[in-house]
Amino acid sequence: MSQKTIFEKILQGEIPCKPIYEDEYTLAFNDISPQAPVHVLVIPKTKIVNVAQANENDIDQMGRVLFAAKKVAELTGISQSGYRLVFNNGEHGGQTVYYMHCHVLGGRSLSWPPG
Ligand code: IMP
Repeated sequence: MSQKTIFEKILQGEIPCKPIYEDEYTLAFNDISPQAPVHVLVIPKTKIVNVAQANENDIDQMGRVLFAAKKVAELTGISQSGYRLVFNNGEHGGQTVYYMHCHVLGGRSLSWPPG
């Protein structure tokens, strides 16, 4: 069996986290190394490694992650001013945790393009 990712440990309560938002399908919590005044990670409660490895069975979960991200933006007060949703995917995408997650970034004006 492959090693558990940090997000599985969070989901299983091995690492404590303060949820920003949670429902039956998703969990959202603050990024440990915030890159913006608001930097929240949204994960599905059922594992998907990343977008590249998702299959048709994951479509509902993926949609729920996006909708949870919208709720996180509302709950953290960045919905009106705007925000960025990021899914880093694979090596060139800068993915470091191989458990799909959506970064919700906001609270300041974000530059483009990313590095
Ligand atoms: P990635 O680089 O897109 O895979 O994003 C992984 C994110 O997880 C990074 O922004 C890390 O700062 C964040 N991270 C790693 N460990 C923890 C943790 O224990 N709690 C919350 N966020 C974490």
